Amino acid sequence: MLISLSIAFVCFYVVHMAGITVGYHRLLAHRSYKCPKAIEYLFVMAGYLGFSSSPMWWATLHRAHHRYTDTVLDPHAPRYGIWEAYIGWFLHKSYAEHLKPETCSKDMINDPLYKFLDAGGNWHKAHLLNSFINFSLRGVMALVWGWEIAAVSLAAALLVQQMPLLLNVVCHLPKAGYQNFNTADTSVNVGWVAFLTLGEGWHNNHHAFPGSARHGLKASEIDPSWLIIRAMKAIGLVSWSNEISINTKYKGPQKPAAVPVASNISDMAVPVTGSGSGSATGKPGSTLGKPELTPVAVLSQHTRSANHRRSRMKIKQ
Ligand SMILES: [Zn+2]
Ligand SMILES: [Zn+2]
Repeated sequence: MLISLSIAFVCFYVVHMAGITVGYHRLLAHRSYKCPKAIEYLFVMAGYLGFSSSPMWWATLHRAHHRYTDTVLDPHAPRYGIWEAYIGWFLHKSYAEHLKPETCSKDMINDPLYKFLDAGGNWHKAHLLNSFINFSLRGVMALVWGWEIAAVSLAAALLVQQMPLLLNVVCHLPKAGYQNFNTADTSVNVGWVAFLTLGEGWHNNHHAFPGSARHGLKASEIDPSWLIIRAMKAIGLVSWSNEISINTKYKGPQKPAAVPVASNISDMAVPVTGSGSGSATGKPGSTLGKPELTPVAVLSQHTRSANHRRSRMKIKQ
């Protein structure tokens, strides 16, 4: 019994984690490969049932993370506090001006499913809806298959939910790992995080080439999520994918537009890295749409936002 429950736990973990890595991250946030809508929904639902909340919210915030890496506009930069980077940002109530899906996620804004799960842009409602659906599913599982399997499924899903939060912190602590590319940000590759997240821990590679469906580049950098995408491509479920290799020439971080930077905000001098999805891919990523606001305009609105009092305090220091 214990062995079969352990196997079930691993299976649930892999399914929900793949939902986040192959679905939420590499497909929704970065459009690094193309597949039929049914396959997209399948992976996204696997992620959603791992307590990952609104897919559009997730992808929008993640695009902002790439666009504004390590700056005050980054939704979860550990340099402004580990707690805020880990869970604090998650608990805010609504989108700050520079995070609006209307400008950052035009490719998802009209999808009825993603729109519904986003609960009108109210993060608390979206998280509650996600929790309600997740707990209800385990209730049904308990009735059908017994409480043990439901409990194992719940434990796996809750553990999966923690992984991206953990990654956001650990993979931006320079001492925690190594860089293959001089991305001029704090992103690092961390092997044990990659193991737990099906390849997402090769985070420096990912910041260097955000639009690539493949994150593990060296022979030692095992990337199960890429293997899943490659397998789907082999059987015709994926029609296109953007794949780079360790030999792909890295052209350096994308420099921010020449805009004046407030003199007392030294952190804004950190180069803004790639556009989060389109920079390495070229074509499909170009549909994502960049925010139309300049960094300075965004920062001005950002500092007025009640959601980001913490960052504002940092700016004043
Ligand atoms: Zn990152
Ligand atoms: Zn990413």
